[in-house]
Amino acid sequence: RVDLESLLRTMLSDFVPRARQKNIDFGLETTEAPLVIDGNPVLLGELLKNLIDNAIKYTPEGGCVTVRTIATERAIVEVEDTGIGVPDSDRERVFERFYRVLGSTESGSGLGLPIVREIAELHRAKVSLIPNPSGKGTIAQVVFPRSRGTADDTDAPLPAAVREQFPPA
Ligand code: ATP
Ligand code: MG
Repeated sequence: RVDLESLLRTMLSDFVPRARQKNIDFGLETTEAPLVIDGNPVLLGELLKNLIDNAIKYTPEGGCVTVRTIATERAIVEVEDTGIGVPDSDRERVFERFYRVLGSTESGSGLGLPIVREIAELHRAKVSLIPNPSGKGTIAQVVFPRSRGTADDTDAPLPAAVREQFPPA
């Protein structure tokens, strides 16, 4: 069993220096309810790292990156950025090995998202890139089945999410 919030906090810490360097407003938004899934913490860490890496890499100076968890009958993790966005025609192709959006000025090998999708599939999760409804940037969304038979396995309404600055002051 993996608690998504504590895993996210661990992963986010590694990116604080890079977010600072680019003056990116880096935030974490979670519900108070623990969000537990079944899986391999090392692989899930890799998945999250790749998504956070992309969000920071493809967001210009002064942008905003928010990582959030959402608890429904599923366990959802979103990494939202205000970056350059992914063209509609590339939204699926970026999950192919070595595929990179034409004209990117950032370096990379085009392997991050294929790895993300593979790890997601191992966890029976679905991953997709969604245009940020704000009109600018991307939301990388991963939808996991929730672990059954845990304390969080209830239909009780969950407290509203709160965005906190990361790292906490
Ligand atoms: P790496 O192997 O180091 O991750 P990469 O970042 O280029 O290299 P992917 O993570 O697979 O490879 O992403 C593929 C392409 O999708 C990127 O080259 C970029 O064009 C586009 N992309 C991915 N995430 C984002 C994002 N959050 N915003 C804008 N474009 C993105
Ligand atoms: Mg990448």
